[in-house]
Amino acid sequence: MPSQRDDCLFCSIVREGTYVRKEKGFVAIKDINPKAAVHLLVIPERHVDTFRDIGEFPAREAKHMLEFVAETAREAGLTDYRVQVNVGPTAGQTVFHLHWHILGGGPQRSEVPAHAETAVAEL
Ligand code: AMP
Ligand code: ZN
Repeated sequence: MPSQRDDCLFCSIVREGTYVRKEKGFVAIKDINPKAAVHLLVIPERHVDTFRDIGEFPAREAKHMLEFVAETAREAGLTDYRVQVNVGPTAGQTVFHLHWHILGGGPQRSEVPAHAETAVAEL
């Protein structure tokens, strides 16, 4: 198994968790605190702290990870959905093992904070 951390929640879920899907190198789990009717997390076995470290994935593995995200959404019956990665605590990252949120299954509130919408409107 690629790099793992003993003190990482998602490394331990990859090792011994309950998955919705598993394929070589990746798992998908249900988010414990869902923010949409369907809220899944795709977690690579390889431990990297954040999306900033995406370069640590070999190119084939990075492509496979994106395909795994798309296939997980399709298998969950989703055609329209959002894929979200929070990068850093200020952006809402709470678990420092790269993961991809898949959110779908109904109308969704924009995650853009009101002040950001104002800033965009002023551009
Ligand atoms: P983020 O805030 O982007 O780092 O996302 C972390 C996500 O992990 C949050 O949406 C949490 O609800 C979710 N989460 C935390 N602990 C668990 C767990 N044990 N099983 C499933 N999801 C979890
Ligand atoms: Zn980890």
